Amino acid sequence: MCSIIGYKGKSPAAPILVNSLKRMEYRGYDSVGVATLEGGKILVKKGVGNVEKVNSNLAMESMAGHAGVGHTRWATHGAVTDSNAHPHSACNNNIVVVHNGIIENYKELKEGLISSGHVFTSQTDSEVIAHLLEVYYAQFSSVKKAMTETCKKLRGAFAFVAVFNDGTIAGARYEEPLIIGVANGGYFLSSDVLGFIEFTDRAIFLDNRDIAIMDSTKLELFNFEGEAVARPIAQVAWELGAADKGKYAHYTLKEINEQKSTLADAMSQNVDTVEKFCDAIKSAASLYITGSGSSYHAALVAKQVLAKFAKIRVEAVISSEFQYVLESMDSKSVLIAISQSGETADVLNSAKLVKRMGAKILSIVNVPTSSLALQSDHFLLINCGPEIGVAATKSFTGQLAVIYNIINRLCGGCLGADIASQLAAAAEKILAGQENIAKIAAQLKDATDVYILGRSIHYPIALEGALKLKELAYVHAEGIAAGELKHGPLALMEKNTVVILINPHDSTFGDTISNAHEIKARGATVIGISDSKEEIYDYWIEIPRLEQEMLYPIESVMPLQILAYYMALERNANPDYPRNLAKSVTVR
Ligand code: GLU
Repeated sequence: MCSIIGYKGKSPAAPILVNSLKRMEYRGYDSVGVATLEGGKILVKKGVGNVEKVNSNLAMESMAGHAGVGHTRWATHGAVTDSNAHPHSACNNNIVVVHNGIIENYKELKEGLISSGHVFTSQTDSEVIAHLLEVYYAQFSSVKKAMTETCKKLRGAFAFVAVFNDGTIAGARYEEPLIIGVANGGYFLSSDVLGFIEFTDRAIFLDNRDIAIMDSTKLELFNFEGEAVARPIAQVAWELGAADKGKYAHYTLKEINEQKSTLADAMSQNVDTVEKFCDAIKSAASLYITGSGSSYHAALVAKQVLAKFAKIRVEAVISSEFQYVLESMDSKSVLIAISQSGETADVLNSAKLVKRMGAKILSIVNVPTSSLALQSDHFLLINCGPEIGVAATKSFTGQLAVIYNIINRLCGGCLGADIASQLAAAAEKILAGQENIAKIAAQLKDATDVYILGRSIHYPIALEGALKLKELAYVHAEGIAAGELKHGPLALMEKNTVVILINPHDSTFGDTISNAHEIKARGATVIGISDSKEEIYDYWIEIPRLEQEMLYPIESVMPLQILAYYMALERNANPDYPRNLAKSVTVR
């Protein structure tokens, strides 16, 4: 959730660390800190706020030294305060640590350490790591031994990087990402390749239970037992430019606009891999699909389209609920797991549980080197480039595009040969209509409740649209299956209510229009997302007509993303960094 970065090399560390933290700030950002090592002394600066603010208050960038660590925190244990910000040091100030994740047994560890005289200065779970390192470093006078003994004591999920005052930087990971960047004249240890991609595209992806130790001359890798391990150096492909905002005011807007090209990229897949993916689906005695947040909504679309076109029944389960459905699975089951980052803890946990049963895992991810991709039997890439905005936009439509591509193969091309170009053209038209949507957002600025209605395949998009409004604009929004209106939600319709209907001219159109009348009769404002203008709409958001109606979800979600973006601006929210949320939810 947060990001950690460590650097040791020829260049001054602090400016590099601060810059890396800025690049990774999307991961979590309630507080920030940097520690550097200078002349055998560890210096720490940290505080509440984003990187920009804390850096301008404390001048972190000007800290001396050629080795150090940095952290942006997304608090799990302990309030958002200066003293809970990372890095954390132990009693003697000879070790400092930054941590990502949750140490589940921190209470008992802390009690033990306190009873042997250690003094804690924060409420975080993370601080125990610094004290344990201190204990074992004092006992064994060895960084390696301090790291292995400490890791063996920790339960939960963690990636951490520590600076020792002898000049060593060491990191370890278990169920949280940690990647080494191998640069000329230095090494990085980072939560994300974005932390070092400006300096090097050579990366080592550490495995679970790996420890990396960098002293002034070399890098060594061990497991928690202290045995040497070898990991290959991989070339990471993403262009640095792709992580910039370009001409756009926000990453989110840039990413929404990139959907013109990302849909086609998602559909251009290696034929062999798609074939293997499809064969595994066909071989399943029972098929499950899972994801969290937007990825779960993509799973709900998949469920309907798979049933209709491929006549395959799949059960969609929210990843955080997956552990409760395991009884119905066995080794002949197949799980399709969806995650943009491939690091979402709930999704990874579902995959882990399923793997234990001997069942197959297929995944749809954006990051080929992610933990999810690496533990899957086959994976397909969304191919949409880095998504920095916390709210999923291009990755969501990319997931749908991958899903449609699979289904098209399973049904022998029944969706048509050129869905990619059809969808790209539709995206182009919708994105050209942003100004109209921005005007509607200005009108809806003070709305307190927004209901989004859709039937059949539009229902998951109603859920996704409501999620965008909540995340970006902080508006209470609900997605409702339109037919359910009369079973309850109609009671909520009154003058100030805003209702958005996802209503293209398909088999659901007539019934949804009837709902529009019922809503209008109660005085609510009605917005239609449709390919035809109807009198009943107070506002009309036009989407192009599609030949194949099952493809509508990909286009009808885009106006909702745009609306949520502009409503965020109207309500003075920063769409790239929604409060309390983080991009890769790596804790459960
Ligand atoms: N659990 C730690 C804390 O609350 C680390 C959170 C994070 O991953 O940012 O400080």
